Formats: sequence, C-alpha cells, structure tokens
Amino acid sequence: MIFNEKQQNIANRINEESSISNWKDWKWQAKNAIKTLERFEYLTDIKFSEKERKELKATFDKFPLSITPYYLSLIDKSNYKNDPVFKQSFGDARELITLDSEINDPLAEDSDSPVEGITHRYPDRVLFHVSNVCAMYCRHCTRKRKVGDIDHIPHKEQLQAGIDYIANTPQVRDVLLSGGDPLMLSDEMIDWLLSEISQIPHVEVIRIGTRIPVVLPYRITDNLISVLKKYQPLWINTHFNHPREITNSSKEAIRKLADAGFPLGNQSVLLADVNDCPKIIKSLCHKLVENRVRPYYLYQCDLSEGLSHFRTPIGKGIEIMESLIGHTSGFARPTYVIDAPGGGGKIPLMPNYLISWSTHKVVLRNFEGVITTYEEPRNYETSLCDGNCSDCKLELNLGEGEEREAVGIEKLLSDENDTICLVPEDNERIQRREDNENTTEND
Ligand SMILES: *Cc1c(COP(=O)(O)O)cnc(C)c1O
Ligand code: SF4
Repeated sequence: MIFNEKQQNIANRINEESSISNWKDWKWQAKNAIKTLERFEYLTDIKFSEKERKELKATFDKFPLSITPYYLSLIDKSNYKNDPVFKQSFGDARELITLDSEINDPLAEDSDSPVEGITHRYPDRVLFHVSNVCAMYCRHCTRKRKVGDIDHIPHKEQLQAGIDYIANTPQVRDVLLSGGDPLMLSDEMIDWLLSEISQIPHVEVIRIGTRIPVVLPYRITDNLISVLKKYQPLWINTHFNHPREITNSSKEAIRKLADAGFPLGNQSVLLADVNDCPKIIKSLCHKLVENRVRPYYLYQCDLSEGLSHFRTPIGKGIEIMESLIGHTSGFARPTYVIDAPGGGGKIPLMPNYLISWSTHKVVLRNFEGVITTYEEPRNYETSLCDGNCSDCKLELNLGEGEEREAVGIEKLLSDENDTICLVPEDNERIQRREDNENTTEND
C-alpha cells in the first residue's frame, strides 16, 4: 500500500506520535472522523470567512458533520468548492433551506414499519435498519434526520424484534440490511445478526447496503470477509457516486468482496453539481464494471429536507439513461428510479422507445434514432387464464403453485379479474355518481 503525501500529512496532523501506520486501521479512521469545522480547517488548510463559519456551524448543528480521514484525503484542496468529494461530505448552508415540498420521512419508512427497525413495503422483502451509525455522513443522505441523531449501535434486544418479525412473516424471502451502515457494527455483531437471519427457513437471500467501500475501505478486513463468507448467498450493494471515489483503496476493498464470491451492485444518487452529467455517470459505470460491480440503481434525489440544492429535474436522469442505453454494455447501466414519495416504492423511469402500435405491428426507435418495426404474430392463440394452474396446458411445475390476487395494472391485464379501471378512492366524479344514485333512489 502506497500512501500519498496528502494522506501522510493528514495522518501526522491528527496524531503526531502515531504515524501513517494507523491509516489502514479502520477503527482509527472511525475514531478520528472529522466532526468540527475547526478540525476540518486545521487538517485541510482551507479557511472560511466569518460569515461562512457562522452559517456552517448552524448547518452542522442541524445535520452533523463527519468525514473519515481517508475520504478527506480525496478532496482536491485547490478546487474544493467544485469538488465532488467535498460536496458530498462537507456541509453547505443551503441545507438549512426547507421547501414546502420536502418531507421529514418522504418515503414513509416509519409508517410502513410493523416493528422498530423494519420497513415492510414490498410483498416479499423487508428493509432492516440495523445501525444508526455511518463512517461518514453523506450530505445528500435521505435519512439525514435520523443518521447521526442517536449515535448508538442498537443492542441485540432491539434487533431481536426485527429478527422475530422476519421469522414470523413467511412471505419475507429477501432481507436487506441497511442503516446507517450495517458494516459499522462489530464483526461479532454482524456474525450474530447474519447467523440469526440465515437460520430462518423462508429467508432465501440476505443483502447488505453499505457505503463502507467508498468512505472507509479499510473496514473490509480479512476477518470481516471470513465472517460474511459463512452466510452465502449474500448480496452486497455499495454506493459510489463519482469516478473520483474509485481509488486504489476502494478497489482493494471491492476486490476482496468480489473474490469472496459476493455479487456486488452499486446504487448511485443523481446529484446536481456532483454527477449530473452523462459523461460522469458513464465513466463511473465503466469503472464499476471493470471492478466487478454491477450498476444497480441510479436514484432520483429524494424529497428529504435540506436536499434542494442537490436535486435535478427528472429530465436529467432520462437524458443520462438515453446516453447509456445501447451506447454501452447492458450490464454497465443502472435502472433509473424514483422512490415514490409517500412510500409507493421504487418506480423505474426510462426514455420512451415505443413510438406507435397497430393491431399487428409495433413501431420502435433505437438508441441511434433509427425507427424500426416489429411484426407481431398473427396466429398467436391467447389461452384464457383463469388462475387455475393445474388445468393449464403450460407445465408450471414449480412445486407449489403461487396463488395470490393480482394487484394494480396486473389486475387490469388479468383474464380472471373483471376490473376494467382503477379509480382513486376519493375520485370526485365517482363520488358524484354515487351521490346521484342515492338521490335517485330516495326520490
Ligand atoms: C429499496 C427497498 C427495497 C429493495 O428494493 P429492490 O428493488 O428489491 O432492490 C426493499 N424495501 C424498501 C423499503 C426499499 O426502500
Ligand atoms: S452511508 Fe448511507 S445512510 Fe450513511 S450517511 Fe451516507 S447515505 Fe446516509
């Protein structure tokens, strides 16, 4: 491991007696996270004006500061105001702006929470918040209000409630550990947690969402790997937002995880003035796949409080997807999603490729602008599906047939369901209709 001069310099200033030898010790990194403005100024030689200092202090009072020495060392000091690492880690007074459209819990994670720590939104999977701690507090964090609020590691008893919920909910086949950052827990705690969850018979996969490879890559120790390895299949999703975050240290962390056999994915957030550019995202995606990480999601920035300066129009994301689809490997492009405010889950967004349609022909356009047609089969025999798989000529031998009611658009497409339209509960026109019917009846 070659340390650069910047890292040497930061390490010396943090602790003069102990030298750069501590740099790769993740606990040292976590302990020495930069949490005050003074510390930041001292370690970077960046100086703010009195006015800026006042505003920044008010910002940090509301949303605390925490940057690992490692991530700090990635800041380009000569151009810090425009630096993507700086912008993601250091505060901005604009975080104090609250718009009417912003919500404290925009994804309604608390309302969809049957027990503390669990968000159960989708039919077959749950989000399990196992830690409130992060190595670094990302300025664009959607759980900004929570992360760093109660800076404590949950006790086993608290986590037990979540484990019990999963154990008692047979439809949960996928458990996504999130936080805060699950990898900020101790190896022992992670071992215990994974062992408890993996013993639940209906849990087929466990996933970990973590920013550790980006902000504290030295946390991926050989011991941690040997703990995680016991619990395959384990999927790991990380959170790189900019190619500048892919360093020798983060590559090393990813290499260890990939070598251990974990499928790796990446979730990025689209951030104004950080990565809202097709070239930046494409370069990021290429670097990720080169390092065996599959781009998974590109998130539209949530409506959490204090994030207005990070948000882009949806059009920016569509434009980025347009630049990726067809132009690069299919596995190098993420799915662009917007997490529905109010808790509707993730909604994928795409440029439109379907131009027109007749009874037997579809008109499509490709990534180059070529317009093409697809001839549909004229002799396709639709067999009506009554939902009774045992009578069907298709051999659906899955063991147990899946029986469940269709929901949403699926219901409109289904043959066995006679719903012809979906109407919002408080639709005024339908309300009027019902009122009219009632008056007629009373006449
Ligand atoms: C994102 C998310 C998941 C996982 O969604 P996938 O699309 O399967 O990755 C599960 N639960 C909640 C509440 C989520 O926000
Ligand atoms: S690592 Fe994730 S949870 Fe933690 S501050 Fe960053 S975005 Fe938020």
